[in-house]
Amino acid sequence: MAYIAVITGSNKGIGLEAARQLIKKGFQVFMTARRKEEGRKAVDQLSANGNARFVYLEVTEPDSVRKAAREVSEQADHVDVLINNAGIFPDGDSSILNVDQLLLEKSFLTNAAGAVLVSQAFWPLLARAKTGRIINVSSGLGSLSEMGSSAPTYSISKAALNAVTRQFAAALKDKGIIVNSACPGWVRTEMGGPQAPRSVEEGAEGIVWLATEAPADWTGNFIRDHQVIPW
Ligand code: NAP
Repeated sequence: MAYIAVITGSNKGIGLEAARQLIKKGFQVFMTARRKEEGRKAVDQLSANGNARFVYLEVTEPDSVRKAAREVSEQADHVDVLINNAGIFPDGDSSILNVDQLLLEKSFLTNAAGAVLVSQAFWPLLARAKTGRIINVSSGLGSLSEMGSSAPTYSISKAALNAVTRQFAAALKDKGIIVNSACPGWVRTEMGGPQAPRSVEEGAEGIVWLATEAPADWTGNFIRDHQVIPW
């Protein structure tokens, strides 16, 4: 039985690289994106001999999420790995003292509520795998123990995503699905910018490790570089 993964926001950056690394390990990957042309180009770019397929998925639109899960279920009888990777960093130099409420909502809807919608739609397929794995791509900026005042809407939404991880880890424990948050470090992507110390390959590696090799009893954790880190 082939190993199957679904990745949100995989038309570029860490999501695209995670797809590349999983395909190299023999996975079939449903690469999802909210922009059809870019999504299809990303699939073509990996020239994966049919092991990558494009599915349209906008994480803030419930209909799109449900449709994507249906589309995947028509092509696969289970899913081993779901990577909730799609995310935005809209803060610029905004401050919590006067940040716009719309920005706060936008970050929350994409970075936290999006992962809830997608996990709700896909867990029944993950429950059919031997060990289903959900990886929520979080950030050190969402760590309450490290948090300062930078990037308020992003940081708050990633802290909320960590809570999403805890909720789903507990709710899905008896279904044999493990759920963890992963911090990729600061990575050179469109979001991370050119100054970031990590390559996209390095950023995706820890996520792919969680998707494939991390112990099957690790659930409800926040993980960076294969180590549990504080919330
Ligand atoms: P990126 O290059 O900007 O890619 C973000 C991806 O998310 C894109 O594919 C984007 O699609 C997609 N996306 C955004 N909103 C979406 C929506 N509503 N529906 C579906 N897809 C959506 O960023 P990245 O650096 O690869 O980031 C990937 C993940 O890692 C994010 O969750 C980010 O918060 C996290 N992270 C990144 C860093 C870093 O240093 N780069 C550090 C810590 C955590 P479009 O192309 O259509 O915009």
